[in-house]
Amino acid sequence: MSTDSLLQSTPRGLYCQAGDFFVDPAQPVERAVITHAHSDHARRGCRHYLAAADGEALLRSRMLPEADFQFLRYSEEIQVRGVTVSLHPAGHMLGSAQVRLEHRGRVAVVTGDYKLGRDPTCPSWEAIRCHLFVTESTFGLPVYRWESEASAMDAVNRWWRDSQDAGKCCVLYGYAIGKSQRLLAGLDDTIGPIYTHGAVEKGIEAYRESGVKLPPTKYVGSIEGKHDFRGGLVLAVPSAHGTTWLRRFGRISTAMASGWMAVRGSRRRRSVDRGFVISDHVDWPSLLEAVELCDPEMVWVTHGYAATVARYLVESGRQAAVIDSRQRVEGEEDAPADKGASQP
Ligand SMILES: [Zn+2]
Ligand SMILES: [Zn+2]
Repeated sequence: MSTDSLLQSTPRGLYCQAGDFFVDPAQPVERAVITHAHSDHARRGCRHYLAAADGEALLRSRMLPEADFQFLRYSEEIQVRGVTVSLHPAGHMLGSAQVRLEHRGRVAVVTGDYKLGRDPTCPSWEAIRCHLFVTESTFGLPVYRWESEASAMDAVNRWWRDSQDAGKCCVLYGYAIGKSQRLLAGLDDTIGPIYTHGAVEKGIEAYRESGVKLPPTKYVGSIEGKHDFRGGLVLAVPSAHGTTWLRRFGRISTAMASGWMAVRGSRRRRSVDRGFVISDHVDWPSLLEAVELCDPEMVWVTHGYAATVARYLVESGRQAAVIDSRQRVEGEEDAPADKGASQP
């Protein structure tokens, strides 16, 4: 168990004793500050939630209707028992926030999930100077390096055009919430119609309700009778791969958009035709860049390759500790809360 005067790492999650609240608790607690709507961060069953206002529609669509929320605009400060709490853009997905805590001159920042690259669906990650910096390490190995948003989406749109020329329908797999909407925002809808799987469409509705501009889509479940999908692109969840649901689309070309596609063999194991390396988490260079920019006295590393990242930071002359060595698979983010919604 790691302890700082502002935060403690406990089995229930990160706890701020001075303010008596948890950040992204793993179990239901009295008061929770939530960094974003993915189910491994936004657990159901807490009594009070504090979260970023941009994510309101999305969070409400995923949490229990009776959940008690307080929403803050980015950078807006509130006092919780003498602790100054504010939320700042994390660049991970709509409504994602870093939590900044300040108490007696000491500042801690909990990033949640974050990335430094451009994302048309949310404001960019903001560097915050702090004493304690808590970072995820999902892709905390030197092999993980992302190309720019523009060139990654160019490759996706090119694949779509080529498949269209070959008389096929494209099926692009991405996580239902966050990734699929980001992909949609980067698709060139002059190429052809864009269709959606039910779990993806639900997220798109919340994004549109929140004011995010997205190309028009058609929910596959709303199409009756025979339909010619040739030349179109379907945004679907990875669990739809290899199921009979795909039959209606005729001849298809499949692709997966994920940070895991950076590793040779991932695409083959998933048995998809194409793999696009597109992630909503920090890659290795941007994780190190974030630490430099925030310049903390101490870094706590969690979720992923925590030991590797902490060792590298210590060898680079920083203070760092592993607070949670659980290996998180990116795909798990959508698992529990989406079970009911994963029907096509
Ligand atoms: Zn996430
Ligand atoms: Zn996460």
